[in-house]
Amino acid sequence: NSIYDVIIIGAGPIGIACGIAAKNNNLSHLIIEKGCLVNSLYNYPINMTFFSSSERLEIEEIPFVTTNPKPKRAEALEYYRRVHDKYKLNTCLFEEVLACNKNEGVFEIKTSKAQYIAKHVIVATGFYDIPMYLNIPGENLPKVSHYYKDPHYYAGMNVVVVGASNSSIDAALETYRKGAKVTLVVRATDISHRVKYWVRPDILNRISEGSIDVYFESNLSAIRQNEVVISTPKGDVTIPNDFVLALTGYRPNFELLRKFSINVPDEECMIPEHNPETMETNIGGLYLAGVVCGGLNTHLWFIENSRIHAKMIMDSILSKN
Ligand code: FAD
Repeated sequence: NSIYDVIIIGAGPIGIACGIAAKNNNLSHLIIEKGCLVNSLYNYPINMTFFSSSERLEIEEIPFVTTNPKPKRAEALEYYRRVHDKYKLNTCLFEEVLACNKNEGVFEIKTSKAQYIAKHVIVATGFYDIPMYLNIPGENLPKVSHYYKDPHYYAGMNVVVVGASNSSIDAALETYRKGAKVTLVVRATDISHRVKYWVRPDILNRISEGSIDVYFESNLSAIRQNEVVISTPKGDVTIPNDFVLALTGYRPNFELLRKFSINVPDEECMIPEHNPETMETNIGGLYLAGVVCGGLNTHLWFIENSRIHAKMIMDSILSKN
């Protein structure tokens, strides 16, 4: 069994950036990904437009050429796949990492298919696998989804969208434009100012003209087969309903990080312990890269500002050799 210099868990944009950085520094590497290549991006809404302009999504300074300034999901899939293939990265797909233990100075990685050994491990597992659940009655009904894919499915139906961030607002506008009767349920007093600057006026106008209903300072409190209950400042309101899109965010897999012996404090943000200069965790040789490092602060890190982690980690690994 060969010993890899670096094993990278997750083939998202940042896992790929780490693979390229390892290769450029003559370190042997293996990327292990539980789904398809750039699995999170693949599972984004079909028509999604990034909030970042394409040059900010580039890795290793390879130009990401698009005709519009903000690329779409399909273009990003194309870009990251082409970059991955150009560098001939060593990647195992559809193989899930289940355990990572440090033993006598090396890491033993157990996956759904095999076992591997590495001198260093980079956890680049993102946060898109686990939704923030509402924890209300009826949430497990088949009509409820925490991921939104395509608007056509909802044509002519009563749809409740929970949340007021980018994902929710995109879903509300798209489904409305394909003929759904949309009601937004928003905990805050307003549509989030983090909503893409060219999208926010659109939703505000649809609300003010009455095309999309909204309940601010409100929570969904129960979901039933043909209706939902919304707790509003004026009391409970029950409305007819066919589908619920609960787009209230996602969180990293803290259980997995703890299984790897990474300290995850029980405080509000649950930021996994790491040195912000090297990205090394409390376990020597075990690193975090990409958006996983933000804990529950999932809006702080994105591709734009975390692609630099690849270089920081390689500098740390090389300084030890
Ligand atoms: P991910 O891309 O999530 O990659 C993690 C990978 O790890 C996944 O492929 C996953 O399948 C895999 N994995 C997880 N657990 C395991 C395991 N146990 N074993 C093996 N593999 C595993 N950022 C921007 O910069 N600009 C944007 O415009 C932008 N738009 C966004 C839109 C949406 C809808 C969302 C949700 C996020 C957006 N982001 C954006 C944020 C961020 O860019 C993405 O979350 C990005 O995918 C983060 O890259 P990553 O490589 O850190 O993680």
